[in-house]
Amino acid sequence: MQRRLFVIFILLSLLPAATILLINWQTSQRHLGFLESPGLAETLESSLNLARGELNRSLEQIDAHMDQVVNSWGGEGQPLPATINGGILVFVVDGSIIQITGEADKTVRQSLLDLAAAPRREPLRLGGEQRGCLAVVRDVGPGQLVLTQPMTPGLARNLDAISQGSARIRQTRLYYGDLLRGDTLATLLALGLVLLVASLLLSRYLARRIAHPLRALAEGTRKVAEGNLEHKVDVEAPEEMGQLVRAFNRMTADLRTSKEDLIQAERVAAWRGVARRLAHEIKNPLTPIALAMHRIGKRVDDPTVTDAVQTVLEETENLKRLADEFSQYARLPAPEPLNFDLADLLHSVLELYAEDPRLLVVWESEPGPAPVRVDPGQIRQTLANLVKNAVAAVGNSGKLILNLQKDEKHVILEISDTGPGLPDPPDRVFEPYFTTKPTGTGLGLPIARKIVEDHRGSLTAGNRPEGGARFRLTLPTTSSAEENV
Ligand code: ADP
Repeated sequence: MQRRLFVIFILLSLLPAATILLINWQTSQRHLGFLESPGLAETLESSLNLARGELNRSLEQIDAHMDQVVNSWGGEGQPLPATINGGILVFVVDGSIIQITGEADKTVRQSLLDLAAAPRREPLRLGGEQRGCLAVVRDVGPGQLVLTQPMTPGLARNLDAISQGSARIRQTRLYYGDLLRGDTLATLLALGLVLLVASLLLSRYLARRIAHPLRALAEGTRKVAEGNLEHKVDVEAPEEMGQLVRAFNRMTADLRTSKEDLIQAERVAAWRGVARRLAHEIKNPLTPIALAMHRIGKRVDDPTVTDAVQTVLEETENLKRLADEFSQYARLPAPEPLNFDLADLLHSVLELYAEDPRLLVVWESEPGPAPVRVDPGQIRQTLANLVKNAVAAVGNSGKLILNLQKDEKHVILEISDTGPGLPDPPDRVFEPYFTTKPTGTGLGLPIARKIVEDHRGSLTAGNRPEGGARFRLTLPTTSSAEENV
């Protein structure tokens, strides 16, 4: 799949690049074609020739004009003849202007002097600021006559424009012609190559980034399908792909938990079956034994025998109770929850001890109604067991300290006493058959914890810092219990 993605990405990135290259190539070819088009150069050349012809005619005219001036002028000291078209005529001797016709400022005068000093005698076009003027110099007697005249205005402009234009085209052809013909192709190819390499790298990166997590997910699915729920997909993936990976791992974790729960439930069910049968088998012979003992007791007067019979009867009774509790532990029915107030249930249990002078009941805090959705019989049994144990622990006198709290989701009841406290570690009291009492069964607390857990609550044990045991019972409040159903 990575390879297919790679090819798709390459095509996607190369398509626009190739189009741009093609358009670029065509445009440059068109430019080159224009520069090399046969008409262009010739047109320019003939315009230039036309303008040059015009210029030459003007130069001839000014030359002829100068001839006239020289012929008509009487020489030094005589007035200079008038010029035409606003021209300027000067007579220069030894680098100074001796006579002048027409208006000339300082700069113009200097350029006239420069002209007189220069060796050139053919008419010419001036440069610089006086580009619009033609000039001609003649040696006359001891000095020189210099004549300037403005050109026809259009001619000067045309000449400049045409020569500039053709110079530019010639330049462009020289520089860019080569480039467009050969070098541009190379440049475009090089650019194309760079684009190609860049898109190759990018495509490979993208293809990997997408394909890698997908491959890991596919592998994960296969492992999970084979039953390996411990497998975790461990890849860095961006955005949606990352969400997918996280969701997959969550799903595997959920599967694992439900599988563990299932195994646990199976184990409990199997164990309960065995326990129930065992309890039944133990109880079965107890009734005939007890009956037989009663009969013997009635027939015999010997006090030794009567005592022995009494002991056997008591022990039989104990065994029966043990078998009852054992089978109850194994066969706790599923709770049948109703809406109740935990405080009310606790009060109904405490009433049994209301008259007991050994016990002082102290409420640390009672927050009013504590609504819970519970099986009242089972929870009352649990509370009764905790209170009974506390009463047993305090002995002849002591306190039972109650603390009822609640938050949004839980009702928390703490039942503490001023007795000797729990053994270390306190959690041992929840082990089935752990007891320190001569006639105890050690099943009260395991049953209590089982009941509370069946109600999605928890029962924990510990010791108060001041001494004495503390049991903490947590149950979901009515609203949160309903949410969980
Ligand atoms: P039983 O009461 O039959 O012994 P339980 O499971 O109710 O069975 O209690 C187990 C043991 O935990 C008790 O024998 C006792 O040693 C200990 N225990 C229970 N509650 C308290 C308490 N309030 N103070 C001290 N020890 C306690």
